Parts: sequence; structure tokens; C-alpha cells
Amino acid sequence: MIPRSFATILILIAATMHGCATSPLPRNRNTDYDVIVIGAGMGGLSAATHLADGGMKVLLLEQHYKVGGCATSFSRGEFNFDAALHEMSLGGGREKALVQIVMERAGVFEKIELIRVKEQCKSIFPGLEFVQPEGEEAFFKALKERWPDEATNLDRYRDLLVVLSDEISELRSPYLANPLAALLTKITLPLRQRTLFKYHNKTVQEVLDEFFEAEDLKAVIAQFWLYHGPPPSEQWSIIFLIAQYSYLLNGGWQIVGSSQALSDAYSERIKELGGTILTDTRVTSINVTDGRVTGVETEYGDAYTSRYVVSNADPFQTFLGLVGEEKLPGRFLRKIKKMEPSNSFAGVYLGLDVTPDFWGISEYEIFLNKSLDHQANYEAAMSGNYENGFMSLTFYSNLGDPFYAPRGKSVLSIHTYSDMSLWPEPGEAYTRQKEEMMDTLITMAEEIMPGLRDHIEVKEGMTPRTVKNFTFNQDGTPYGLNFTVSQQNRIDIHTPIGGLYLAGSWTWPSHSVGMAQVSGFLTANIILNNDNDQEN
Ligand SMILES: Cc1cc2nc3c(=O)[nH]c(=O)nc-3n(C[C@H](O)[C@H](O)[C@H](O)COP(=O)(O)OP(=O)(O)OC[C@H]3O[C@@H](n4cnc5c(N)ncnc54)[C@H](O)[C@@H]3O)c2cc1C
Repeated sequence: MIPRSFATILILIAATMHGCATSPLPRNRNTDYDVIVIGAGMGGLSAATHLADGGMKVLLLEQHYKVGGCATSFSRGEFNFDAALHEMSLGGGREKALVQIVMERAGVFEKIELIRVKEQCKSIFPGLEFVQPEGEEAFFKALKERWPDEATNLDRYRDLLVVLSDEISELRSPYLANPLAALLTKITLPLRQRTLFKYHNKTVQEVLDEFFEAEDLKAVIAQFWLYHGPPPSEQWSIIFLIAQYSYLLNGGWQIVGSSQALSDAYSERIKELGGTILTDTRVTSINVTDGRVTGVETEYGDAYTSRYVVSNADPFQTFLGLVGEEKLPGRFLRKIKKMEPSNSFAGVYLGLDVTPDFWGISEYEIFLNKSLDHQANYEAAMSGNYENGFMSLTFYSNLGDPFYAPRGKSVLSIHTYSDMSLWPEPGEAYTRQKEEMMDTLITMAEEIMPGLRDHIEVKEGMTPRTVKNFTFNQDGTPYGLNFTVSQQNRIDIHTPIGGLYLAGSWTWPSHSVGMAQVSGFLTANIILNNDNDQEN
């Protein structure tokens, strides 16, 4: 079992932040499995690994033919593509990076090789280009050189990032290691974590308006809004600020062989620990008796029993589909039905017969923004006017990993945001619309890569329907709940059904490849500690 000290601290962060419920005692210990995990996304894989490591008999069921959920890759011809991951944050502030600790404890860190992304990104706006260097010192130095009049404001903003990050870290500190201290921390948070409390109801835009004058500087600093969903005017400031500082301190990372290599490492580790994984197996119901889970049923009519179930599937499917409305309290159901999922993506994956230096491009990631106003870019993309919106261009071949393309060739992924409601059911109209979207994105990319069209060997599109097909997530979102101020509290890991827990982007602490792993770790530890307490 994972040493309790660290685990307890993390659990107590979760408990402190959103209140902790205790599950009733599992009744039947003679089940096929101790725990069944539904879904092999990052949250499910991480939960299954930590549970198996804690001595539980684990069954992981995944509807797709391979594990990973969004964290996956695919091949076309001689090219390999990461379906999703541009870069992973390792999380954490000045303490050791949280995601790395979770991967080490899982025993997967030694199975993968990480590549550090060499600069944060290049931002392009009308009349402005700015390379955001990697590292706190270099980032602020470059901003001050470009915006000398804002030097003092930049120092104040940097102080804000440091203080916020330290305050969040304090919530991890050992004095939280008993429930009374956790409760006290919650009560005294407005006094002790004063900066966190001051900004906890503000949007990113409100914070930037408080600190800076120049609109172009604000637009550059806010560039990474698109890693979290809503535009700066709606996005919860804390998630943005903490992630920004974490990227500055601990860097952005890819995995040699793409995010699929990480997913496969988890899969291998689960099997090493005695767990069972069944892919191509969709769960069709979660069985509940007297308010407690008893197991699941699959699309093939097979039934498996267990004392605990962890769902990495989205909460709409989990509660409204797999559990069933009649088994849930009305108040909880109303809350679930009111939740707003985040946006999805549209994009095109290209295999090229040249490398990016054909266009003089050495960066890994370029963001092309049609306006300094991120809200306008967001609205344009979400209404299907991609040409007036924004896009990310990710040059995987600039990582130096030969996985993606043969020598002299390269892959490029272009992504923007998209709204599921714009996309018809698959058929002629859908195919036509997808072709038009890809064509528009390629035309936009030609602004910085003239003649790009002539160098395409392989082309594959993606839309919100693609994400939905591979994950079943509501509206095809990979980010879970929309991270607005009013939805800053993720859905609780605990559920009203005894023995049923959540893991992944919809629940604590957050979305993304890194944080979904932390989520699985938290969930596993809540279950292991709960089970342990009841043994004693
Ligand atoms: C285009 C794109 C770019 C992205 N870029 C980044 C990035 O640069 N950095 C980053 O950190 N994150 C990025 N993300 C987001 C990140 O990939 C996700 O937030 C994260 O991987 C989600 O993990 P999850 O645990 O929530 O599960 P998901 O990936 O949502 O997986 C859920 C799993 O559950 C399975 N499932 C669902 N229902 C059932 C059922 N009934 N039975 C069996 N199995 C079921 C699904 O098949 C799936 O495997 C990106 C995502 C996309 C799509």
C-alpha cells in the first residue's frame, strides 16, 4: 500500500477543499473482484494501478480496443500521431512535481522517457509575435524587455504566482494529517490562504486587468487559457494561475513514443500487479443493491461482482445511464443535470514530406490568434468561423523523437475549439463539413507555412464527434466540467452510492493528462484507506 503520510495529505486536500463523505461498510467480501474500474483513460489507469498496488484485486474494463482514452496515438501510412497530448504539466509549485510523484508511486515513471519542451510556445497575433521562453526567469525577463513600462506590474504578477503556489502547497503540508487539522484549515482558509481566498471568485481577465495596462501584454500572458477551456473572461483564475506557474517552474513535457507510451506503461504495470484488463468491453450498467454497488454488467451480458466501482466514464453516463436516475437522490440528480461540460476540439493531423525547418520553424508549439481579444477568437471558433478564431500548431517532429515520422518528413497537428452542436450525425453532410473545416485550418496555417498544401502526404481530421466516439464523453469534451468561476468545485470523488467513486477529468483535482493521473491516485487512496479502516 502507498505510504499513508503522502496519501493522507492528498486525500485531505481533497477532503478539505470539498467535504468528505464516508462510504458505508462493504457487505459482501466474496466478490469476483475487490474493485472494478470503468474506463482506461488516464484517471482510470492511474486508479487501477494504485488500487492493485495497494493489494486489491482489480478488473479494468475499457470499451475501446486499446487503453488511454484521449491519451492515445494512431498511425496513418508511415506517420504516427499523438491524438491529444501537446504537453503535460508535472504540476506542483516549488515542491517536487506532483504528477511525477504519482507516476513514481505507480511504478510507471521508470517505464517511460520524458522529453522537456524547449520553449513554452510562440504566440502570433495581428502585428505581434512573441516567443514565450521556458523557465520563470527567462519568461519574465523577455516580457520586461518587450514591455518595459510594465516591469513593476510584472514583478507584482510574479509575486502573485509565487504566493498562490505556496498557499496551495501549504494545503499539502503535514499538519493536515488528521481530520481535525483539515477541518481547521478549511475554517481558517480565508485567514491563512489569503491570496487564494482573495482571487478564488475571479476570472483570468479580472486578474490581468488588475495587474496590467497593455492589452497586447495581457493577451500574451493569457495565451495558455486554451489549455483549460473557457476564454479568459469566463475562466476560473486559480486553475490558470497555478497551471501557469507550474509550467514555468517545472516545464512542459512530452513522452517518448507519445502519450500512448504512458498509457501502455500503466497497462503493463496493472498486469504486473495482478490486475486484469479487458478492452473492447463496454460497461452497460452499474449494479446497485440497497444503495451500494455490487458490480457491473457489460455489453456482452457478462456480470462481474465487486465491493467497489470506480468510474472514469463521464458523470452523465455514469449516473444517468449506468446507475439509473431512480437509484439517486433528486437533489444530486438536479445538480448533475445542471452541470456544463467544457468545449471540444476540431483539428487536422498532417503527415508532411518535409520537416518544419523547411519554413524556418524550430518551435514545438505555435499559437495563431486572429485577434488580441481571446473572447472573440473563442466565439469565432465555437460558432464554426475558424478563420476568425485561433489555432495551435504542434510540431511533434521538433521534439527530436523519431517515433512520429521517417527522417526528412514530419507530422503536424492543428487544433482549434469546436462545439458539438454544430456537427451533424456522421453521413454526407458531416463528411463535407469536416473537409471544409480541415481546408480552412490548412489555409490559416499557410499564413506561416506558405505552400503547406503541396507537402501533405497524409491528412486525418477530428471533430467533437471523434472525441465522443473514443471516450463517450458528453459533447465530446476531453476536459470534463467547464472551468468557469461558478464550476470551480469539481464533482466529488465520492458519490451518493456506497462503494461508487469517480476518477478523471470531471472530478478532483482537475482535467489534463497530468491531473487525471493525480485524480486516480486520490480516488485509489480514498478507497484503500476506507477499506483499511473497516478491516481494523
Ligand atoms: C485534441 C486534444 C488535445 C489535448 N491536449 C492536451 C495537452 O496538451 N495537455 C494535457 O494535459 N491534456 C490535453 N488534453 C486533455 C487530456 O487528454 C484529457 O484531459 C485526459 O486525457 C482525460 O483523461 P480522463 O481520465 O478524464 O479520461 P478520458 O480520456 O476521457 O477517458 C475515459 C475512458 O473511459 C472509457 N469509457 C467510457 N465509458 C465507458 C464504458 N461504458 N465502458 C467502458 N469504458 C468506458 C473511454 O473509452 C475512455 O477510454 C487534450 C485532449 C484532446 C482531445
